Amino acid sequence: MGLWIPRPGFKSRPRPTYTPTYTPTYVPNRFTMTENNIPTIATVCSHTSLQIFDGARKEGFETLGICLGKPPKFYDAFPRAKPDEFFPVDSYQEIVEKTPELIEKNVIIIPHGSFVEYLGASDFARLEIPSFGNKAVLEWESDRAKEREWLTSAGVPVPVEFSLPDEIDRPVIVKYHGAKGGRGFFIAKNKEEFEAQIETGQEYVIQEFVLGSRYYLHFFYSPLRTDGYRVGDGTLELLGIDRRIESNIDELYKIGASSGIDPSFVVTGNLPMVLRESLLPKVFDLGARVVERSIELFGGMIGPFCLETICIDTLEFKVFEISARIVAGTNLFISGSPYSDLIEPDLSTGKRIAQEIKLAIDMGRLGDVVS
Ligand code: AMP
Repeated sequence: MGLWIPRPGFKSRPRPTYTPTYTPTYVPNRFTMTENNIPTIATVCSHTSLQIFDGARKEGFETLGICLGKPPKFYDAFPRAKPDEFFPVDSYQEIVEKTPELIEKNVIIIPHGSFVEYLGASDFARLEIPSFGNKAVLEWESDRAKEREWLTSAGVPVPVEFSLPDEIDRPVIVKYHGAKGGRGFFIAKNKEEFEAQIETGQEYVIQEFVLGSRYYLHFFYSPLRTDGYRVGDGTLELLGIDRRIESNIDELYKIGASSGIDPSFVVTGNLPMVLRESLLPKVFDLGARVVERSIELFGGMIGPFCLETICIDTLEFKVFEISARIVAGTNLFISGSPYSDLIEPDLSTGKRIAQEIKLAIDMGRLGDVVS
């Protein structure tokens, strides 16, 4: 059932030694789940829950779908992805209040984008229900300045930022703090256009508008597996690549730049992508740098993460965002992607998460992948 077993004669490479520059405040809990006490995989019914439930079931886990209000009817249309049990709540806050009940049900929560956004990063960080991944990442991911510090100190190229409008010397994208879902951004080609559009009283960043091809790289970092592309004490996998379809920016060319219509960046769907094969070493280098630095900064990112990149015409990548959990672009690959197929057939990110939990239980290391 997908359990990874080292090849006969396999020897792991010597572990690199890290000299942390920051003392992690987070110490992983030791949970008492064992082979005889198999957890139930739970998540909120939205975003990537269909593949999370499908993947968990394929790996032999029971599943629990936390839903707001009545169980969503559309799950009846997808029987393989319907959770074994629904757990209705009236609000995301009620999930926190029902912590004892969920712990009693022996669940491991799989956080996804909607879950963390709607519950709130700080409430999620405080949630006492065992959750897949390292919650310490939230401190670094949910603050734009800290996220940038993480990426730049990892040696990852990022878009140039300007502290003052006077410095604008090329097209820029302006992002208001707290802007979500591609709303609250605007483009300006110079200082005059910036001043004509800026709303006072809001915090923002002015970022170089990087013109190139967008690739959303879906990685998985396992601190447990030692057979594969080695990073830290574990391995890094590339499970797929997508590109978000964004309304209306993606279609703006049809009406022409002179139309006067303001661009928006609202994600409405996803397209599968593959990269020129010669770019794969660069992609793995980016992923490895981000993971290695995360180990130094806060004890390491675990499981799925996405680097949102733009590849420019000199074939260099600029990383403009990182998501430290399963993202919706992986929904394309429920039966595998051109990359995950070369690891194992039929491997979705949801299934890969379930495999990691199973492997951790088998190795007695659940506390290393759950926080
Ligand atoms: P984000 O909310 O950071 O994921 O950004 C939403 C969208 O804005 C992205 O998917 C890109 O289409 C666009 N975007 C963000 N940052 C940049 C950038 N520095 N250069 C060009 N486009 C960007």
